[in-house]
Amino acid sequence: MNIIVYAYMFIIGVLLGSFYTLAVYRIPLKQDITHTRSYCPKCNHKLNFWDLIPVLSYIFLGGKCRYCKSKIRPRYIIIEILSGIAFLLFTILLDIDILKIEYTKIAALIFGILFFSTVIIVVAIFKDYKKIQISVFNFGIIAEIIYMIYLYILNTSIYRYIIYAMLLLIMIVINSIKKTNEKIRIIMFLIFILIGIYEISIIFI
Ligand SMILES: [Zn+2]
Repeated sequence: MNIIVYAYMFIIGVLLGSFYTLAVYRIPLKQDITHTRSYCPKCNHKLNFWDLIPVLSYIFLGGKCRYCKSKIRPRYIIIEILSGIAFLLFTILLDIDILKIEYTKIAALIFGILFFSTVIIVVAIFKDYKKIQISVFNFGIIAEIIYMIYLYILNTSIYRYIIYAMLLLIMIVINSIKKTNEKIRIIMFLIFILIGIYEISIIFI
């Protein structure tokens, strides 16, 4: 039974990976990430459904655009496979059983997905532009604040959690200021990663 859950989670991970590559390409260019059809960045040819199947399309097309034959960056397939594996590992670690609905595990899984998505997208955009993407980073901080409050309510009011939530709130304000130094933003992003890992680890202890 669990094999089916694992297979589903791997596929969801791969699909999200495919979304990450799209988000990484479009967000810095201020393009729509949900409605516009995907296209080849070289020849601008609109891509069909069968050109967009994660992992498989890349393999069948030999890593080239069907229309202009230009090379597709291997980053696409790498991010897709890595995110599939990450989701699979996370589901195994959480020991999710579909026959038992455990809200704490589901909440941890949802938070894990949002946290992981933010880290991947911010890091990949940083690699290309040497800049932390403010909007995506803020989205991740909001997810951390909400999950921190959830942990506070769940774990009979541990005050530490409220302090972390306040720290995150301050970070969102500093991050939203356009003039903020990029180095400060990088430091805040590292703090964000540490807090996120801490929040995820709570379910295992
Ligand atoms: Zn093309």
